[in-house]
Amino acid sequence: MHGGGRMRGGDATAQRAANATAPRIPHLLKRISGLFAPHRRALTVTIVLVLVSAALSVVPPLLTKQAFDLGLFPSSGSPDVPVLIELVSIMVALWIASAALGVWQTWLTATVGNKVMGALRIRLFGHLQAMELAFFTRTKTGVIQSRLQNDVGGVAGVLSNTISSVIGNTVTVMAAFVSMLVLSWQLTVVAVILLPILVIAQRRVGQVRARIATKTQESLSDMTAITQETLSVSGILLAKSFNQQKAEIGRYEAENRNQIRLQVSQQMSGQWFFAMVNIFLSIIPAVIYIVAAYLITGGVDVTAGTIVAFTTVQARLMFPLLGLLRVALDLQTSSALFARIFEYLDLIPAITNKPDAHAVRDTELGRIEFDDVVFRYPDANDDSPATLKGVSLVIEPGQFVAFVGPSGAGKTTVSYLIPRLHDVTSGRVLFAGDDVRDLESDSLVRNIGIVSQETYLFHATIGENLRYAKPDATQEELESAARGANIHDTIVSFADGYDTVVGERGYRLSGGEKQRIAIARVLLKDPAVLILDEATSALDSISERVVQDALDAASRGRTTIAVAHRLSTVISADVIFVVVAGKVVERGTHEELLSSGGMYSSLYSQQLR
Ligand code: ADP
Repeated sequence: MHGGGRMRGGDATAQRAANATAPRIPHLLKRISGLFAPHRRALTVTIVLVLVSAALSVVPPLLTKQAFDLGLFPSSGSPDVPVLIELVSIMVALWIASAALGVWQTWLTATVGNKVMGALRIRLFGHLQAMELAFFTRTKTGVIQSRLQNDVGGVAGVLSNTISSVIGNTVTVMAAFVSMLVLSWQLTVVAVILLPILVIAQRRVGQVRARIATKTQESLSDMTAITQETLSVSGILLAKSFNQQKAEIGRYEAENRNQIRLQVSQQMSGQWFFAMVNIFLSIIPAVIYIVAAYLITGGVDVTAGTIVAFTTVQARLMFPLLGLLRVALDLQTSSALFARIFEYLDLIPAITNKPDAHAVRDTELGRIEFDDVVFRYPDANDDSPATLKGVSLVIEPGQFVAFVGPSGAGKTTVSYLIPRLHDVTSGRVLFAGDDVRDLESDSLVRNIGIVSQETYLFHATIGENLRYAKPDATQEELESAARGANIHDTIVSFADGYDTVVGERGYRLSGGEKQRIAIARVLLKDPAVLILDEATSALDSISERVVQDALDAASRGRTTIAVAHRLSTVISADVIFVVVAGKVVERGTHEELLSSGGMYSSLYSQQLR
């Protein structure tokens, strides 16, 4: 693939998409039909059903002709009622049979269509779970949600309607066509002579519609992003506290207007086309009467029965034909949505297991080494300096180490490289003696616990939130972890105890309580290495004391890496690394660093003041 390398900045979703060129329809159709492969049996049954009901539907028009020519107006003169009743009964039986088959067939196609979409949704969800952290930091949550909901939802309806519509209508059209030919080939020629024009017009309309559909989905995704950003607890807090509700409504209104405009043009595109088709199909019978008159004058054998039967069939051709044209349009529209879904499925996760990845070794468990690590965020400008510029350090098993330094120096980034939330740009990060890129990610992550700056709790009970770390934990284990994190007494003081439901992101709990629950969660996981990212920075001094006690308890017996803001929390560290602008500029114990009178001692005296 040539032509400009990786895209940066712009539409993040397009990045690293395997198909850099716009997907072509045949390729897309092949891929879409691939989704149906597991349902071959059901589809075969559907096709058989459709064929049978189509075959059945060829017969009644021919019977109509017989009913006229033999029953109503036989050559003997007066109507032959017994023959008429016989013919009509067969017709009714055939209609009932084909209606029943139709219901069966609809059930089959609805089932297949929805199963296919369900499978696609799961695949997309699973694929997104595999994407690296950087993908989520550069893509709006709402945009991701929109692909899962709006786009997959958008094609779901089309798809289940489409299968039955395509098969059913094709066969009905063909059957009608056959009946028409049998009745009179001359009249058939008249009836279909203008069809090619319709097909050409339909293609043009389809292209316009697909373009509008892409725009509509983009706008829908922007709207979802706005909703998701502003109608969340933090979003609404921000909007209210800055009096920005009006501005938010304005933003939504602008996108909403755009959406209305797009929806109207989507629904209107092709309406002239369908109006024309309608007129065209309705005037055909009139033309047929006139042509039939000429045929009869010319000595061709056209009976009254032929004309009645022919116009009946021709009228019945109208709806399936319109249906097919609509399906072709729908397919063009939904191919735009499919392209958006496949674009996400084609994103290649940046961080994956190597084929020969192995589990973390027990020897030296807890030892971490950075070997000349350079790291640049994937989305950073090429000419901006790297975030980490050659970091080398060793953390021994069981040590308590701290990273301190100015905000933005790269401390959090260092900690994220250990569980491979990002991969180094150059150099190596070793975990228990192995390059983290050679380890199975499950095994690596099992050995690392993170308590991050922003505590995230699910909208679920406290017990369920804790069990996220260990689904089969017993109540005793939960309580012991909670005691270790200094939160057990608080939990049992709630009316519902461990069954207390925390609000979205745990908003009903105080910051300190949430953090202690997060610490209990990590204790339950019991990892060899604990990463604490400025866990106490947001707390008042009493809460900080309680949380700090919990952290001290949590760090006992394991390697602990604290990313610290307040130097008071790191005095007891075995090693303190001072990070400035992506480099470790000093290292040592609190006393050593103070007496050397460098960066640390000036930071420390600043904080004391
Ligand atoms: P610290 O923890 O020392 O405050 P961080 O490690 O969070 O610093 O950030 C180091 C630098 O990396 C900062 O300049 C920050 O702007 C940048 N940075 C952090 N996250 C990203 C990201 N996802 N993409 C690009 N740059 C980032």
